[in-house]
Amino acid sequence: QNSYAWPNQSEANLRSPICCIMGHVDTGKTKLLDCIRGTNVQEGEAGGITQQIGATYFPAENIRERTKELKADAKLKVPGLLVIDTPGHESFTNLRSRGSGLCDIAILVVDIMHGLKPQTIESLNLLKMRNTKFIVALNKVDRLYGWKACRNAPIVKTMKQQSKDVQHEFNRRLTDIITQFKEQGLNTELYYKNKEMGETFSIVPTSAISGEGIPDLLLLLVQWTQKTMVDKLMYRNEVQGTYLHHKEIKAAQGIKITAQGLEHAIAGTSLYVVGSHDDLEDIKESAMEDVQSLLSRIDKSGEGVCVQASTLGSLEALLEFLKSPAVSIPVSVISIGPVHKKDVMKASVMLEKKREFATILAFDVKVTPEARELADKAGVKIFIADIIYHLFDQFKAYIDNLKEEKKKEAAQEAVFPCLLKIMPNRIYNKKDPIILGVEILKGIAKVGTPICIPRREFIDIGQIASIENNDKPVDYAKEGQEVAIKIVGSNSQEQQKMFGRHFDIEDELVSHISRKSIDVLRDNYRGDLSLEEWKFVKKLKILFKIQ
Ligand code: GDP
Repeated sequence: QNSYAWPNQSEANLRSPICCIMGHVDTGKTKLLDCIRGTNVQEGEAGGITQQIGATYFPAENIRERTKELKADAKLKVPGLLVIDTPGHESFTNLRSRGSGLCDIAILVVDIMHGLKPQTIESLNLLKMRNTKFIVALNKVDRLYGWKACRNAPIVKTMKQQSKDVQHEFNRRLTDIITQFKEQGLNTELYYKNKEMGETFSIVPTSAISGEGIPDLLLLLVQWTQKTMVDKLMYRNEVQGTYLHHKEIKAAQGIKITAQGLEHAIAGTSLYVVGSHDDLEDIKESAMEDVQSLLSRIDKSGEGVCVQASTLGSLEALLEFLKSPAVSIPVSVISIGPVHKKDVMKASVMLEKKREFATILAFDVKVTPEARELADKAGVKIFIADIIYHLFDQFKAYIDNLKEEKKKEAAQEAVFPCLLKIMPNRIYNKKDPIILGVEILKGIAKVGTPICIPRREFIDIGQIASIENNDKPVDYAKEGQEVAIKIVGSNSQEQQKMFGRHFDIEDELVSHISRKSIDVLRDNYRGDLSLEEWKFVKKLKILFKIQ
């Protein structure tokens, strides 16, 4: 009973076009999709970010109903429209590129109040690269000052109802944004003024809140794809290369597959059909390519955290994120699906190599109770989150904490390097305890540092017990500072050495370092010392004849 007639046999066999939504964060991608399908995903999402490739199917019926005011229903030839909602977060370049790869057309969302933003441009580049056509949804028009809402109305009708001021403001912003697109080498124009579709990209003003322009957007998507992409949208029954288009499956719709061994299938990988003339090995190789590219991200050293995610796409996004220079967390094992005991076992291998890497970063997956129990027993950490950034925050807090603990343990043994010059007329006490004014010639003088006089025989005179800078106690003093230090004997049985007898004004004082103290310093305080200070450690090493 469809009112739209199929013009001929081949066109009757069109599949649904696949569309993805792209654009900068917060431009309203999720809201727009909600508005189109009349649901509210945005509120239910983790942190409002769409992280998985999800899709919504709009049957032609639905589109016809919603566009009837535009009086264009007779022109619908496709069975429907499949909209994929791709994630909007900056760290998802990869996932997004997967999204745009399989799309026939894209909606590029731009906020009318903000214009083109970094992610808009990134999306544009992806679209250009893949030669994917797109329609610009110029969203949030309802935010123009004085906007009169006309719920779900076509945009021309809506515009006519707006005051001169609103129209003027709209035109001003539109012109600005068209200029910004020009700067990216693209011609754009309001869709109903666009005379050269294809050459010039169409802009549809929309509001995802009150629904203005949504009918226009839907209709334009369908019309444009069925007009310009008939070839691409046509089902074929003949065998083409290695692909066999099965009669009973209409692509671009969700289907359920029942088969043996499906539990080993990885979500997000491609599906291949093997025909009688196909080389199975070739196809196996192609099938492995998706996974292989991920395996190449594993750290060669074999040291790194374990990473687990729900789908190939999200695993890819997570790996991409961990690899980025600002994060830089090495990965030793990757896996898809829930965390099981065997995964904990794999992670526990790291306990002996690097304790902090005996960690599983679980993104959007469940942890079985047995796995949790084993992890607790073995000392493997599992961090779970459904936002990649949160995983990083948890892991970083954990690492920082570990470092702090280690530092505290090491504090007793670490000796910071320093070279001190005794200042004349600043001898406050010659012994028990020695109190002197000194200038820090090199390095860091720190409370707890053992001090010695480097004569032919080293004379140990005790440890720095306290430091005063301008009469205020401090924990350490740096090169160039003049401070008073109190030195107490480190060995209570022995009489403390005395200024004026065992050492004198022209003697320099240095930290007494050892092989062990250097190692502890290097392992725990590497970043706390400057390059100059490390050079000085080297000099002391020679002085103390440390191998
Ligand atoms: P996304 O990051 O691109 O998916 O953006 P969202 O859909 O999460 O929207 C970001 C914010 O903008 C939310 O607070 C939305 O309610 C709001 N928003 C989205 N579309 C519109 C719109 O057309 N008009 C107005 N006024 N607000 C909108």
